[in-house]
Amino acid sequence: MSRFWSDVVHTLTPYVPGEQPKMDRLVKLNTNESPYGPSPRVIDAVRDAASEDLRRYPDPNADALKQCLATYHGLEPAQVFVGNGSDEVLAHAFMGLLKHDKPLLFPDITYSFYPVYCGLYDIAHRLVPLNEHFEIDPADYTGEAGAVIFPNPNAPTGRLMPLEAVEQILKAQPDVVVLVDEAYIDYGGQSAVGLLAEHPNLLITRTFSKSRALAGLRVGYALGSAELVEGLERVKNSFNSYPLGRPAQAGAIASVEDEPWFRDSCQRVIDSREHLTGALERMGFEVLPSAANFIFARHPAHPGADLAAALRERAIIVRHFKLPRIDAFLRITVGTDDECDALIQALGDIL
Ligand SMILES: *Cc1c(COP(=O)(O)O)cnc(C)c1O
Repeated sequence: MSRFWSDVVHTLTPYVPGEQPKMDRLVKLNTNESPYGPSPRVIDAVRDAASEDLRRYPDPNADALKQCLATYHGLEPAQVFVGNGSDEVLAHAFMGLLKHDKPLLFPDITYSFYPVYCGLYDIAHRLVPLNEHFEIDPADYTGEAGAVIFPNPNAPTGRLMPLEAVEQILKAQPDVVVLVDEAYIDYGGQSAVGLLAEHPNLLITRTFSKSRALAGLRVGYALGSAELVEGLERVKNSFNSYPLGRPAQAGAIASVEDEPWFRDSCQRVIDSREHLTGALERMGFEVLPSAANFIFARHPAHPGADLAAALRERAIIVRHFKLPRIDAFLRITVGTDDECDALIQALGDIL
């Protein structure tokens, strides 16, 4: 507390990001980063961008990157918004598109940044409980709403909603923005991009941090009708005209241009996820079906907090949320097969 803070700062409960320990030789399975490096073409592009030109501001509109993403998704450049990580894109969406008199609806168990933005921007909201299988039930999203947001697959559960269920929510709420956060859609889910043509109220956010192995570059984007994108641009240009530096714009384009690397690294993560899921189930864990690069699992006999602490003693870090309904679970990022095997072995010892 400080007398120098504004009133709003006193009320904030900031997001707590997963730990980024400064130690080497840790098996780090706590923040859903890719276990593989980015495409070598990205590293070359970022290196090439580290030139004399850095003295100049980057393109404030990132036109080349928007064009590249538009082509990739079969959309117009005016339907693409880019930002400094999808967290920044989400922040602008909360302020510019999701804040209304009626409450914003989102699941009770979901990405824990959503309630933080509601606090920052003073957004009325209502938590909609997941069903007993930790699924989003579209029938629960029919009430009065100023807007709706959910990740698909959801985090930290990893559970995927079929596209028909997403469309059911869009149809139930045609007059408000429905934001689908597709941070993990590349690990086996079907994107809602195909629904954009028919639903001008749909906004989709994506990130380069997970499936494109570029968490350190900070690039995220949104796809939606030109009307929604213009709203985001108005917020962005009232906040920071240059959210993406030259290396980030160049690296992101190179990433989109290397489709084989992208497909291969997603498939490797999917294969390791299935292997890890099977091994944990054989040890007595209940593992929720995951369509993400992490799994959400609980053991009937061992509290999540105890398991997380015991793993940490063995230099393996996973994420545990001390929250109602999910206190028993661990969220475990899918690592390389060697990292998954180290985890399986450590859990064998602990149990
Ligand atoms: C990781 C994550 C993000 C944020 O990603 P950045 O692009 O790194 O800011 C957004 N939404 C969900 C659900 C995530 O898990």
